[in-house]
Amino acid sequence: MGEQLSGLGASPGIAIGPVFRYEKQRLRAEKVFVEAPDAEQAALQTALDQAAAELEELRARTAQEAGAEEAAIFEAQALFLEDPELLQQVTSLIEEESVSAAYAWDQGTQYYSEMLRALDDPYLAQRALDVEDVAQRVLAILQDEDRSDMRLLQRAVIVAQDLTPSDTVSLPKEMVLAFCTAEGGPTSHAAILAKALGVPAVVGLGSSLLTLENGAQVIVDGDAGLLLLEPDEELLQQYGERRRELSSLRSKAEARSHEPAVTRDGVAVEVVANVANVADAEEALQYGAEGIGLLRTEFLFLNRDEAPSEEEQVAVYREILQLMGQRPVVVRTLDIGGDKPAPYLDLPAEDNPFLGQRGIRLTLCLEELFQTQLRALLRAGHSHNLKIMFPMVSNLNELQQALVHLQAAREALEARGRAYAKDVEVGIMVEVPSAALIASVLAQHVDVFSIGTNDLAQYTMAAARTNASVASLANPFHPAVLHLIEMTIAAAHEQGRWVGLCGEFAGNPLAAPLLLGLGLDEFSMSPRAIPVVKEALRRLSSEDARDIARHALTLPDADTVEAYLKSVQEASNERAGKCHQ
Ligand code: PEP
Ligand code: MG
Repeated sequence: MGEQLSGLGASPGIAIGPVFRYEKQRLRAEKVFVEAPDAEQAALQTALDQAAAELEELRARTAQEAGAEEAAIFEAQALFLEDPELLQQVTSLIEEESVSAAYAWDQGTQYYSEMLRALDDPYLAQRALDVEDVAQRVLAILQDEDRSDMRLLQRAVIVAQDLTPSDTVSLPKEMVLAFCTAEGGPTSHAAILAKALGVPAVVGLGSSLLTLENGAQVIVDGDAGLLLLEPDEELLQQYGERRRELSSLRSKAEARSHEPAVTRDGVAVEVVANVANVADAEEALQYGAEGIGLLRTEFLFLNRDEAPSEEEQVAVYREILQLMGQRPVVVRTLDIGGDKPAPYLDLPAEDNPFLGQRGIRLTLCLEELFQTQLRALLRAGHSHNLKIMFPMVSNLNELQQALVHLQAAREALEARGRAYAKDVEVGIMVEVPSAALIASVLAQHVDVFSIGTNDLAQYTMAAARTNASVASLANPFHPAVLHLIEMTIAAAHEQGRWVGLCGEFAGNPLAAPLLLGLGLDEFSMSPRAIPVVKEALRRLSSEDARDIARHALTLPDADTVEAYLKSVQEASNERAGKCHQ
């Protein structure tokens, strides 16, 4: 058997094919003095206009091929073309030093992206990559360079150091079998786009990836995060079979995505979506979501100069609630902090933003911002099935304070004589281990729980989810995390409360028997994961699931749990295959 490289699975699926090394030349501009700075200013403007038109074209194409959320990356990139600070810097350089537009643009954008990188924040590092992407686009136009340096003549596995969003979508989709990068994390733009395009991806494979020769045969396992080099016949056959199975499962699941997920013994399990905006909510309906289990409201507050007004928030929340009709919509109050900065809030930098003023801790200190959001939510929720959920609750006091705020918002609306949702249900995210450990106390004060395994795993395992070198430790299959999930569900059920789970874990079909067996009432996931998870639930009986969960909880580590659940899944696939023969 040949060698293998391991990284992090960023988009599921199997691909088999030859390597294509994607190495794009980075353009640079020499310092050139000019006689007529005005002509350079005009050339800059023309290039910016052309770049804007290209980005709009990419946005439209991506929206069609991958979805609105992914297309929004190019909208965000286009904003850099109008960034007043950046443009001011570039135009003054042309004016004051009589240099070419290309040189001034190159200098200005390099300075800008270095500044973002220096802040040592994963979110801003991603924005720096966007600036570099846009910078190269404009520079190529100014220097009249042909950027179509990708000559993909056969279907191939794209191997690169890292990929920008432009690289990812400008590669001819029908020729790309998979993406593999030496760097990057599972939440990088390229990874998100790969997932949306339905192409497997493995990131963080390390620099030895870049020694692979063009044309070398590989197998990409996007689920396991593996790249198998020069596989032998046996391995090729084994993976080829798995690939066929997966694709037939996906088509079957999609054909039934609008039917409910009813287990073999007749239990209907609620399958809902995680969304961040109106476009996502539309996609959720398209994939058969029965409601929204997590509306992340951060999108309304980031990348802008001031907080959204009450009216603006009401309009957006209402649009989503109307789209969902009477289906349940769980809206999470603002979950920002040092890791997702909003400049107008003027938050101090923190050494450990994930352990700092985040989520409810922050909104409890920003009374006006919190009150405005709560009033907007209560107003928009009138005559809809709205539930309000607080993020990052770690003790009873925070929850009690949040409930006092909610009551104050109700009273303010009452005093104004406004219509609002009077009997809205209230919940919390259980994503800090302390909240899981005191779930029976917290359950006495709320109607619903939603377990946030993305954070629960990182806090339980003390491994930051954004740090590629430890991210694999923050694994929700770890028994420590599973015990916390079990405790939370048991405590909530004892008080007659229902429990959802809205971390990425809920969208992993491998976890479905385990979570069902632990008694989870609602699975909330990214819209595209819905069909396959519904299908996985339909194959189970509650009793089998309970046995599976009970056994999984006796296992010693995440790998053993995953291996056990894989064996369960394979047996179930085999049974399903036999039934269809
Ligand atoms: C979670 O922590 O699991 C979660 C769903 O919230 P977010 O990913 O937005 O932190
Ligand atoms: Mg969270």
